[in-house]
Amino acid sequence: MTTDGPQFPCQEDPELFFPNSSSGVGLALAEEAKRECHRCPIKDACREEALLREGSSAAKYRYGIWGATTPAERRAIYDTRRKTAVAA
Ligand code: SF4
Repeated sequence: MTTDGPQFPCQEDPELFFPNSSSGVGLALAEEAKRECHRCPIKDACREEALLREGSSAAKYRYGIWGATTPAERRAIYDTRRKTAVAA
């Protein structure tokens, strides 16, 4: 099989990056996916794209592991940035 363009870890095992829960087995899968993201050359850009796409959505409306972050972690990043921007 031939492939075009770069291959990223999430393309090798997509299901790993969308665990069904944030606890138990789901938490373990999320941690494994995050480890895979840390070896990805576009990790930072991927996280920023997810933050932009999800906007101000609550964590429960965010999904998947993107750029080595969980939905709750991305929500926390969003909130921190918003508070910093308001304070500036
Ligand atoms: S950083 Fe993004 S593109 Fe890279 S493996 Fe993780 S989810 Fe996939």
